[in-house]
Amino acid sequence: MKIECYECGTARKGLEILCSKCGSPFRIYPDFRFSDNPKENFPYLHREISLGECTTPLLKKDQMAFKLDYFQPTYSYKDRGSKTLISFLAERKREVGPILSEDSSGNAGASISAYGSAAGFKVNVFVPDTARGPKLDLIRAYGANVTTVPGSREDVRNAAMSDASFYVGHSVFPEFRDGIRTLAYELFKQYDGKLPRNLYIPTSAGTLLIGVYEGFRHLLESDEITAIPNLVACQPDLMSPIKSALSGKDYVPSGRKSLADALVTERSPLLQPLVRILRDHGSTITVTEEEIVDARTKLAHSGIFTEYSSAVAYAASLKHNAQGGKMVILTGNGLKNAF
Ligand SMILES: [Zn+2]
Repeated sequence: MKIECYECGTARKGLEILCSKCGSPFRIYPDFRFSDNPKENFPYLHREISLGECTTPLLKKDQMAFKLDYFQPTYSYKDRGSKTLISFLAERKREVGPILSEDSSGNAGASISAYGSAAGFKVNVFVPDTARGPKLDLIRAYGANVTTVPGSREDVRNAAMSDASFYVGHSVFPEFRDGIRTLAYELFKQYDGKLPRNLYIPTSAGTLLIGVYEGFRHLLESDEITAIPNLVACQPDLMSPIKSALSGKDYVPSGRKSLADALVTERSPLLQPLVRILRDHGSTITVTEEEIVDARTKLAHSGIFTEYSSAVAYAASLKHNAQGGKMVILTGNGLKNAF
């Protein structure tokens, strides 16, 4: 595996999370052919910390397909990243130390808390002071210490990075994002190599979209597929920095909170690589709060219960006039939102 800075190409030397030269995140780059043996696609993992992950269902309904990726041990897709990251760190405990810190609006905090505890780490999770409900309950239930932080999502990240423990922030730690490659491989298998033209992806910091892209890029460079699907970054109107970035404008926050409480990143450390990927292989669609509620209700009335943040992607797919098949990635269980 090659691990280098997204912006200046400097190689990562150890466990640092940002480039020492320019402060940008690192990219993990598989420089070998894709393998049908899942373990061979992650050669840096030798002993997996597993909580019983499975291949998540692909449900096809009419002209639409849904990847039910909330069928995971902690009920969100984040477990793909946590399993990879925590397995990697568990082999380096002497260097990492006994305590991990993470910042999260909910799903990642619960996931890191569960996998970290399973690996014998203590976990400190920093959350916005607006966090409440089932996601917060889950973080605590898995054994993490929770600290609430006032201010923006970025203030929460800064507090976690200042903690006297080992920071494993999922939006910047490369092994977390790298674990998301498994989602692309799974789709490749489930579609027997004939992927749909359009993928709708709930997007906050960009971890999911970039991770999926890296999996498809690996498949493309291994001659397993002939094209990368159109990756549609789906965001609420009330939190839509990607739309601004793609049109070259500074993002002006709306000042209002969306029901989609997992899509809260105003200034992603991954914004530059995300924009480059979308310019070549995708686009963005934003949706209103009314469209989010309507999409979640439509899903629930067809037997699919997701959190509001996942419904954002379904809402975007409904208003996208596109050629070819559509597939929506549903990222979080509906029980994660308070009623
Ligand atoms: Zn750099």
